[in-house]
Amino acid sequence: MSFNTLGLSETLLLAVQETGYTHPTPIQVKSIPAILTGKDLMAAAQTGTGKTAGFTLPLLQLLGGKSPVRSNRCHALVLTPTRELAAQIQESIQTYGKNEALRSTVVFGGVNINPQMKALRRGVDILVATPGRLLDLHQQNAIKFTDVEVLILDEADRMLDMGFIRDIRKILAMLPRKRQNLMFSATFSNEIRTLAKTICSNPIEIDVAPRNSTVQAISQKLYKVPKEHKAALLTHLLSKSNEQTLVFSRTKHGANKLAKQLNRANITASAIHGNKSQNQRTKALADFKQNKVQVLVATDIAARGIDIDLLAQVINFDLPHVPEDYVHRIGRTGRAGASGVAISLVSPDETKQLRAIERLIKFTITVEEIDNDFDPGINIKTQESRQAPSVNADKRTSHNKPRRHKPSPSGGKNKSKQANKAKSYKPKETANNAKTSSSIWSQDFTSKTSR
Ligand code: AMP
Repeated sequence: MSFNTLGLSETLLLAVQETGYTHPTPIQVKSIPAILTGKDLMAAAQTGTGKTAGFTLPLLQLLGGKSPVRSNRCHALVLTPTRELAAQIQESIQTYGKNEALRSTVVFGGVNINPQMKALRRGVDILVATPGRLLDLHQQNAIKFTDVEVLILDEADRMLDMGFIRDIRKILAMLPRKRQNLMFSATFSNEIRTLAKTICSNPIEIDVAPRNSTVQAISQKLYKVPKEHKAALLTHLLSKSNEQTLVFSRTKHGANKLAKQLNRANITASAIHGNKSQNQRTKALADFKQNKVQVLVATDIAARGIDIDLLAQVINFDLPHVPEDYVHRIGRTGRAGASGVAISLVSPDETKQLRAIERLIKFTITVEEIDNDFDPGINIKTQESRQAPSVNADKRTSHNKPRRHKPSPSGGKNKSKQANKAKSYKPKETANNAKTSSSIWSQDFTSKTSR
């Protein structure tokens, strides 16, 4: 299937061609012609499936035929749960709309409202917004909803999870009744269906990924490891792989702490979470995208919508409480058909979460053996100084070489000590036991749960 058969204009096809996409993704094959009919749409698609282009391309085409937009008004409104996702959608609109004479802007909280008010003064064809800031702008008369002809609700499930339902209802009540509605959600729970009924009328329904399934291209594995050894194991894995990695931490405090620990081990890392200012969040994401840091440690909410091309690896430092978040987390890798690896570090107290995740994805995640040379006792502050440089390190470009190999303070002495120590890693009290780490853990897990 080629993009040429989807009914898109020459200028849009040209923009698509320039992005380097050769074939439309399954969601694009279905959503583009459906949206071009002008009907409402309900699409179940996870982030990473190419859904942004799936709605942006036909939207640009439909808006091309409308009358010029009036001041402080917009023709299409895209609502998203997070600032990062909003910024990324705006980037896509600019990329695919580069040959169109259409204006767009993005508004979200955490930054100065004045430039946003100024941008809205002339009116925009497409307005991408997070709900809270949009309501603030409306209250200040910077935006009027009278000319909205298309409404797009992106990541509707996450909107509900994040408590935006009241804001959404307020916005919906102010929109013109006659409009086209497009609703995207990773999952269609009963709650989402109820919301959809109040928004869409007779929608075309699209479901490209079976509900709650994880993307096929992602190789999922886990390490069973005591909680107190997780930071050391993370450092060990990152030192070995040298891959750009998104690490998930359940808490903001945990994300900060991990980023600090990794930096002390000479693995460049930044943290991204809700307590950081918007500028810090933008910078952390930009540094990560430009390969200036190897690791981005994120909480679930902050990571929502983050789109990094060709992200090779995601590591769950801890498992999420909500199993659906696991699907969202690992969806950061293996995007639009690329392959990726998702690793989870699972401690015995997380058995319940692991079971819930495996039930949801209908799949048993492969348990990996921890390398023999992993030393949990190693002080991660000096891990790098004790480790031989990675074979891949030479392949990096200069800005892509965040870690310096520091000479060991004790010369070669520590290294040989380390080599001896490395062979002796046995999880917890099992030092005299010849079993592998995973079989020991299965025992631990069983005994813990049967108690
Ligand atoms: P999304 O699901 O919209 O967040 O898109 C995920 C990633 O897929 C983004 O990095 C897009 O640039 C990329 N993408 C979108 N459409 C295609 C396509 N047809 N072929 C290859 N990559 C694509």
